Amino acid sequence: MGNRRVRLRKRIKNGGARQHPWIYGTEIAEKSRDVADGDVVDVFDDGKRFVGRGIFNSKSKITVRILTCEDEEIDKKFFAKRFFDAIEYRKKFAGGWECYRLIHSEADCLPGLIVDVYGRYAVVQVLTLGMEKLKNIVAEVIIEILNPDGIRERSDASVRRIEGMEEINEKIYGEVPDFINAEEDGITYRIDITDGHKTGFYLDQRENRVNIRKYAKDARALDCFSYTGGFGLNCALGGAGQVVGYDVSAGIVETANHNAESNRMGGICSYRTGNAFDVLKEYDAKGERFGLIILDPPSFTKSKNRVRDALRGYKEINLRAMKILEPFGILATASCSYHISDELFLNTLREASSDAKRDVKLIEYATQSKDHPVCLHIPETKYLKFAVLEVE
Ligand code: SAH
Repeated sequence: MGNRRVRLRKRIKNGGARQHPWIYGTEIAEKSRDVADGDVVDVFDDGKRFVGRGIFNSKSKITVRILTCEDEEIDKKFFAKRFFDAIEYRKKFAGGWECYRLIHSEADCLPGLIVDVYGRYAVVQVLTLGMEKLKNIVAEVIIEILNPDGIRERSDASVRRIEGMEEINEKIYGEVPDFINAEEDGITYRIDITDGHKTGFYLDQRENRVNIRKYAKDARALDCFSYTGGFGLNCALGGAGQVVGYDVSAGIVETANHNAESNRMGGICSYRTGNAFDVLKEYDAKGERFGLIILDPPSFTKSKNRVRDALRGYKEINLRAMKILEPFGILATASCSYHISDELFLNTLREASSDAKRDVKLIEYATQSKDHPVCLHIPETKYLKFAVLEVE
């Protein structure tokens, strides 16, 4: 144990067992003088028992993120083992998936690291200073295990600033095209791994996208936050009569229409630029109705403090959508904000249904795709809520 040390205020009862990997600054009693931000540190409890080894950053409230509870070096072998564990987990359900998340940060025991696979390419996102310092090892492991044609780093998430880091968006290995075409459940998407949202695609909605097909037969469908068309194109495959999609970004709408055309669904699906809040209001004013509405908005809050405003936003779109659904129409509605709990989300839907004066049945209640694992001892790993409702 040659690393720098951090000692906690409290005694850890089940040291060595799987536990929540975050240690807040307020939990730390003392640290060796030479501990610098980004260092790997050994954590001991107040009884001086070894708790685990993690990455330290005094700039973050989560000051240590535990990487392992064992006395093992944080080296290439360590990362390779984590990658093999992640591959093994995904073999259980993701056989044949061209695009998927391979490493989902804490949920794959690698806090601050995201690795998404897009066919022959890997896209990495590094969110903590400690992981930033280990990035070269990560790249070596990706090259050895996945043998990709290229790796792009999309560390352009604003949370990096909390850790005191600049945003990075650059190729780090091999050749990486700006766009790739990749298949997901029978639909080919143009994916912008250079400038698209997240690492290029909302991989976390994969299973919900394919699941929407069974509600789409003959429906007139409306997808209010379409991104590049995912839900709408699945509606078309499910037999929808018409799909209209909206996104605020004109460039994204262009890609959505391209995807509709390239999948020979241009006759059914059309995408337009628009603000969902206005679009829903206008359809209501015009008396237009839909049999299926999808609401997959961006996170309305990234912090606890803004939950109330966020709930107002969720209520408004859900209320407006319920109002313009045909009798017994289907509303598929999501929230990807971790700070909105299941209870808050369902309560908001309940309030919307009361105000809309429409009875609602909860047909399905799902979460993110399985390649974004939910760890039972880390509640923060479950963030996506996806409800399918029948609106009477
Ligand atoms: N369902 C999509 C992902 C949606 S992400 C998929 O499966 O791929 C949310 C999208 O909402 C983003 O593309 C963002 O550009 C768009 N957006 C954000 N605010 C919006 C608004 N007010 N009205 C319409 N679209 C909006």
